Parts: sequence; structure tokens; C-alpha cells
Amino acid sequence: MILEVNLSKLESNTREITSRCEAAGVTVAGVVKGCGGLPECALAMEAGGCSHIASSRLGHLERARAAGARLPMMMIRIPGASEAERVVRAADISLNSEASVLRRLDEAAGAAGLRHGVVLMAELGDLREGIWNEGEMRGTALLVEREMKNLRLLGIGVNLGCYGSIAPTAEKMEELAALARRTEEAIGRGLEMVSGGASTSFPRILDGDMPRKINNLRIGENILTARDLEDLWGYRTDYLHKDVFVMKAEVLEVKEKPTHPIGEIMFDAFRNKPVYVDRGVRRRAIVAAGKLDYGWPEQLVPLEPGVEVIGASSDHTILDVEDAGRALRPGDVLSFAMCYAPMAYLSSAPDTEIVFVR
Ligand SMILES: *Cc1c(COP(=O)(O)O)cnc(C)c1O
Repeated sequence: MILEVNLSKLESNTREITSRCEAAGVTVAGVVKGCGGLPECALAMEAGGCSHIASSRLGHLERARAAGARLPMMMIRIPGASEAERVVRAADISLNSEASVLRRLDEAAGAAGLRHGVVLMAELGDLREGIWNEGEMRGTALLVEREMKNLRLLGIGVNLGCYGSIAPTAEKMEELAALARRTEEAIGRGLEMVSGGASTSFPRILDGDMPRKINNLRIGENILTARDLEDLWGYRTDYLHKDVFVMKAEVLEVKEKPTHPIGEIMFDAFRNKPVYVDRGVRRRAIVAAGKLDYGWPEQLVPLEPGVEVIGASSDHTILDVEDAGRALRPGDVLSFAMCYAPMAYLSSAPDTEIVFVR
């Protein structure tokens, strides 16, 4: 099985997103965690106009730098105290929410002779990372500003639409903007960065209701798989390529079979009790890729008309090909675009052969 990555399409998607953000005064950190931190993708994002390369994993940032990326690196998973030395070397900036970790980062940056940029995360209701109490936000900002000589307080940020699935509405963005203004008053100077979230905040740019104070987003999905804006939020995005990542898998078996399993239905290998629709006898094919490779069969998008994913086990994907436009045979290769989760699994799986095209 091959994962084909089209770098010109990736660069084009990046430019479409960054130019729209730029027009609204918003810089874009290109987030490579969804594509396993492939350095080639980081370089395409850099060429496409991103302001930073970002990831939740330090190894991704280190590899991007080693491959020649020149943009500032942003660590977007709040770091642990034990990682401080590596964080200040691999990343120019990190998102943070704990004073004790900031203290370690300050020491590590001092020891390495570096100045490390800090964005304090605000909790606005999604209930993942962030400072909930405003007094704590003010206190932490003042602590970094006055006492941590090797850190530079760049700004504040928020994450939404993850654990709590909370929508980055204009009101939430306004809340962040107001918090930024009050934080600026507390420290007595302006903040460079107010980071308003991830791909899910990009609709604020499209709708033209992003508060002016918000000047950065951290975007992966909109650039990489580019499917959620249209599928989930109903925005027309003809300008984005939805096939930057394509899985190509070999056909192993093609047979006419009943569509409903025969016998007593128990549990599948993943402890689910699936429901099967009886559509009579139909032609089906098996390709050589499975849940171990991509996690979520329902998030694969067959690129050939008349091919439908009907299920998968660890190493087999089962397709209905009754209505396929050609007579498929073992040895043929079928292509699938995908949503975010399969990209994330495939690009990180040890057995995936990754091929770059332009
Ligand atoms: C994953 C992540 C992003 C990027 O998310 P996308 O949905 O891929 O745009 C941005 N910020 C943080 C903190 C993240 O964890």
C-alpha cells in the first residue's frame, strides 16, 4: 500500500488559506501533526505562505528543521517539565498553561543561551488545555514578563473544537480578544500574538467576523485534507484540493458474494456488533490495507466511481464494486482520498510506503 502525497496541491491549499487569512490580518502556523510531521509537507507549507511550522510533537519540528525549514517552530501541545531542554532547542515558541513548566522552560532556555517565545493558553470552555481563572492568567503573564528573563511573552491563545467540541463562534473570539486587551493592560504593553485556534476557526475569516485583535491561527486540516469546511460546515471550497493525500492499495480478491453475513452474528475483531444491510448478491473486492493502517474505513473516499467501502478488518478493506466502471481483477490498484483520521494514521504507520509527487 502506498500513500501518495501531492506537494504542489499541498502548497496550493496552503496559499489559498494563508492569502485569505492574510487579508484579514491573520498569520497562519502550518500544523504538520496530522501528516506525521512529514518534513516535505512542512516545506510545502513554508513555500505556501505560512508564518510558522507547528506540531504537537517535538520530533516533527526537529525533522522539519533538519530538512531545511526556516520558519519559526511552534510546539502546540503544552510541553511537560521533563521536556524543557528539548522544547527550547526544537521550538522557538510553545503554548503553555502551567507556571511550573514555564519556570523549567526559562531555566532550560537560559542554559542553552536561547530566548523562548511563550503563548499562554486561555480556557474558554472546550476543557482541554488552558488557564481558566483570569487572575491566574494575569499572574502568569506578569510572572513571565517580569521574572523569566529567558522567555518572551508573545501573546495568548485558545483551543476550541477538540475535547468539548465547542464552536469558535464570533462571541468566543471576542472573548479571547477582550482577554488579550486586559492582559495587555496588566503587563503594560501590547501582545504580538493572539492565536484564535485551529481549522475550526477559519470560518470566522470566511464570514468576515473575526475580531481584528485575533492575528494568528494554527491550521492543519483545512490545508492537508481540506474536507471539513465543506462536509461539516457547508462552506463551498472549490479552491482547495481534497486529494493531497491518496492511498493506493492492491486488489487481492474479486468475487460475487451475498451482502449479508451467513450464520449467527456475534462481535467483530474490534468488539463491535455491526449491522449489515442485505442487498442481495453483489460483486465485492478486497484491497491490501486495513484498520491497522488507517484506523477509520468510513473516512476513506474512493476516487473511482462505483466503488464503496463497506467494511474493514485489521489488514483487509472490503469494497462493493458492483457498480464500478471497469472489471476489477486481483493486481489492480484502487485509489482513495481521505479525511483527517486516516491521513494521521497512514502517515505515521511504519508499514506505509510514502511517495511524493508534484
Ligand atoms: C491540532 C492542533 C491544531 C491544528 O488543528 P487542525 O484541526 O488540524 O487545524 C491547532 N492548535 C492546537 C493546539 C492543536 O492541538
